[in-house]
Amino acid sequence: MSSQQNHKLCMIPGPVEFHEDVLTSMSTKATSHVSPSFIPVFGESIELLRKVFVTEQGQPIVVSGSGTLGWDMVASNLIEPGEDALVLNSGYFGDSFAACLKVYGAKVTEVKSEIGDRPTLQEISDALSTKSFKLITITHVDTSTGVLSDVKAISELVKKQSPNTLIIVDGVCSVGSEEIRVDEWNLDVVLTASQKALGVPPGLSILIVSERAIQTFKDRKSPIPSYYASWAHWLPIMNAYESRKGMYFATPPVQLIYALNTSLKQITSTPLETRFEQHKKVSDQIKSVVESLGLQFVPKSREVAANGMTAVYYPEGIQPADLLQKVASHNVVIAGGLHRAIATKYFRIGHMGISVTEPERKHIDNTITALTTSLKELGYSGN
Ligand SMILES: *Cc1c(COP(=O)(O)O)cnc(C)c1O
Repeated sequence: MSSQQNHKLCMIPGPVEFHEDVLTSMSTKATSHVSPSFIPVFGESIELLRKVFVTEQGQPIVVSGSGTLGWDMVASNLIEPGEDALVLNSGYFGDSFAACLKVYGAKVTEVKSEIGDRPTLQEISDALSTKSFKLITITHVDTSTGVLSDVKAISELVKKQSPNTLIIVDGVCSVGSEEIRVDEWNLDVVLTASQKALGVPPGLSILIVSERAIQTFKDRKSPIPSYYASWAHWLPIMNAYESRKGMYFATPPVQLIYALNTSLKQITSTPLETRFEQHKKVSDQIKSVVESLGLQFVPKSREVAANGMTAVYYPEGIQPADLLQKVASHNVVIAGGLHRAIATKYFRIGHMGISVTEPERKHIDNTITALTTSLKELGYSGN
């Protein structure tokens, strides 16, 4: 812990704080991506990802890139020009996923909720009944609003009403902090990135793809309109490393995969249920503090609020830059707003990964203290 003493805590919704062992494991000497020392590390990471996503059959794909590349992978491999996609929109990231799908020729229908809310099952059902959708996308946690979607319930609805529709989950801000079960919930693609609740520096795009999604990809009639993102290139690579053989398409980020391996071992060393409970508990703690300060959440209710982050409106009379700077002066970095319509009106706190699972680090306590002290110093006295 001491090696990180002199830095401001990074309590934003990703990148999150990184464990020392994760950081140390990255600083290897130059290592070939087909070296006998690296191949098993990559292979084991692929296996560990199945545990984290609670899947036996799902195919992990790990590629250099950020979470955004996951949208391009979904759109380029699964959508053929002119096909219909249904995007559930609970904020900024729904807008972006829709924009990405359109680039690859999808005809996008959106079910858009008001800021702070999520589409209702009735609205989703109504939309599903209008067309035969190739796929539906769900943003599990929209990081711009802190709104949590009920992926399990939506998946059950889709299975009943439109069983051929592929179920795609943007889990960039949820994998590792929210309950997610790929096989049990019948999900076809869950995409995420390294720097949020998985606790690894930015640079990895990570997906789990169902057998059904792979079949859909294999059955497509039109060529894949991407070179780098094509699963035709990546699936053989993943299969090779998992069977402990090196193979080349594009150089994997060797050091980041060492870091991923370390983090995944840490994550899977305790039951996932415990991890989800810890995130719930810490989220409740932070949200109770926010409430007791008389501040208002961006999510309409606690029921639709994420457990790995909290989005809060500034109180009357407090300027955005003032609060963020004040909190930083107490050595904690929190984030400003992201949703375009309200960007200057709210702030966001991330509470994921080791900040949650290792309370002895006091990240949460320090964040709460920095926030309450800063508000007081700016003259806010609550209600
Ligand atoms: C952060 C985030 C993304 C984008 O991930 P990048 O790694 O920044 O490309 C996509 N969706 C959600 C829900 C996110 O939180």
